[in-house]
Amino acid sequence: MLEHTQYDFDAIVVGSGISGGWAAKELTEKGLNVLVLERGKPLQAGSGYLGEHAPPWKVPYQGKRPRELYEEEYPVQSKVWHSFNETSRQFWNNDKENPYATDEGKPFLWARADVVGGRSLIWGRQTYRFSEEDFRANAVDGHGIPWPITYDEIAPWYSYVEKFVGISGKSEGLSQLPDSEFQKPMPWFALEETIHGRLRKKAPDITLTSARVSILTEDLPGRKACHYCGPCYRGCSTGSYFSSQASTLPAATATGNMTLRANSVVERLEYDADSGKISRVHVIDTQTKERMAFSSRIVFLCASTVGSTQILMQSASDSFPDGLANSSGVLGKYMMDHTLGISGLGLFLDNMDSYYHGNRPAGLYIPRFRNVGAQDEDADFLRGYGYQTATLRQDWQTGFNTKGFGAGLKDKLRKPGPWIFALAGFSECLPRESNRMYLSKRQVDRFGMPLAAFDFEWSDNEINARKDATKQAQRILRAAGAVLALPGQEEMSVPGEGIHEMGTARMGDDPGKSILNKWNQAHDVPNLFVTDGSFMTSASCVNPSLTYMAFTARACDYAVRQLNEGLI
Ligand SMILES: Cc1cc2nc3c(=O)[nH]c(=O)nc-3n(C[C@H](O)[C@H](O)[C@H](O)COP(=O)(O)OP(=O)(O)OC[C@H]3O[C@@H](n4cnc5c(N)ncnc54)[C@H](O)[C@@H]3O)c2cc1C
Ligand code: SF4
Repeated sequence: MLEHTQYDFDAIVVGSGISGGWAAKELTEKGLNVLVLERGKPLQAGSGYLGEHAPPWKVPYQGKRPRELYEEEYPVQSKVWHSFNETSRQFWNNDKENPYATDEGKPFLWARADVVGGRSLIWGRQTYRFSEEDFRANAVDGHGIPWPITYDEIAPWYSYVEKFVGISGKSEGLSQLPDSEFQKPMPWFALEETIHGRLRKKAPDITLTSARVSILTEDLPGRKACHYCGPCYRGCSTGSYFSSQASTLPAATATGNMTLRANSVVERLEYDADSGKISRVHVIDTQTKERMAFSSRIVFLCASTVGSTQILMQSASDSFPDGLANSSGVLGKYMMDHTLGISGLGLFLDNMDSYYHGNRPAGLYIPRFRNVGAQDEDADFLRGYGYQTATLRQDWQTGFNTKGFGAGLKDKLRKPGPWIFALAGFSECLPRESNRMYLSKRQVDRFGMPLAAFDFEWSDNEINARKDATKQAQRILRAAGAVLALPGQEEMSVPGEGIHEMGTARMGDDPGKSILNKWNQAHDVPNLFVTDGSFMTSASCVNPSLTYMAFTARACDYAVRQLNEGLI
């Protein structure tokens, strides 16, 4: 059994976002006394969601953007995502208060939350498993290093977290996109059924399925099925979408074993060369600037890919001059993101007598169909991409320039316009040593800590995959029956814009080439675990957060077994 006397806590978890929430839940439920340290502000679930269910006239500036404030204080966050506005600004990072650096001519957008719950409050909730092929990809084509774990080893942990998260979706039996433990899918619009039928006949290599999302269609304990109120980015007091606030943190609180400290930025981890372990976690209170330190038997870094890597780099010591647990020298390197953007947009005149009600908070999904199983002969890129879709009907606003007046004009404007079906491609990014983050040597933040800095560029592989996604979108839209198929944007997304940064403390079997072993445990420091996206050895083309959750739960199980056996 654990001894509680020598340490302030059994475990310290840094970060309360998607992975930190899971670590807090799992470790407290296994009986550990856990301190969660979160640099963001405290936020009460439900009551802290200011814009939820508010009509436009009750929202400051009708939810629109005060230009000067955004340019001055939120130049990055306001560019990254449409969901940053006056109803959600409270969740996001203030770029002026917490800046970062980029290399000359190499822009990088780093989207961050600054609140308890982290980005779980503002994420898009798309939730997919990596496939067996994803876990083999590096070993097969030689990019990056092989994953130290197979799909079969992580599959039970996917199932474990999925049942708690609550994922709506449809089983399809595809090898490239394994099915999850699903709740029933959300209903489809009439046009989507029409497109589905046509694609089955005219483009049988394409699967159109429900987007798999962490949004309930059936109640779970303490959480209600979605009532389609949207927009979700303002917060969800019914807990219908998965967030740390609604799901994992309440579970951890219920154990009575969690202490959560907001406004607490972790500055560094202290390494004790005698024991070979982390002895203390050094923290600065963001409000008072008071410095303090806490001790624990194990430390889980869940501060997001960049946040955790930054902490490891700041924890350099005589034993680890290039960053804690970095004897391999790969810390900060092999960073990945996904490229994203509209690949094509079709206009449809089918099902014109049908409309939809409410705000369904998810579209459909087209799983990867290129280079599945083997390289396609006509593909000039490795690996693949999937499309997230959006379906809508044009409304009265398209009639802005319509000529006319009186009853005739009003009648015309009341009629909805054609349907639009849009495809947004998300492509895989290869792990490359030159894509990296590091600590600025010249600039420090308001706490005196060096700024995180980025040096990241797309390679031809990502550029060619993106071009292919645009070309294939035309084929799909035509097969679907679009009367007009418009090509998507040509330019690449800015690195970071995919908001899936990962890979900077990758896992692997070889301690000379990786930071973590297959249990998310640092090769060099046995009481240190890192379970956010920094552990990722490759990126797949699907949204990654479900994989962080599954690995976090698995690492917690392993760590507690190790503790109980006296091995760490
Ligand atoms: C708009 C948007 C849409 C997205 N859509 C999707 C999607 O559809 N599907 C998907 O899979 N992913 C999506 N993502 C990405 C997803 O949000 C992240 O992958 C996920 O939140 C990562 O979890 P995490 O726990 O690693 O990091 P986070 O959720 O970012 O949590 C990290 C926490 O650590 C805290 N922290 C950082 N540094 C320190 C420090 N030094 N001391 C103390 N605390 C610290 C942060 O304040 C934060 O609360 C989206 C992200 C955004 C912003
Ligand atoms: S649409 Fe559903 S998930 Fe989104 S805020 Fe409303 S109830 Fe929550």
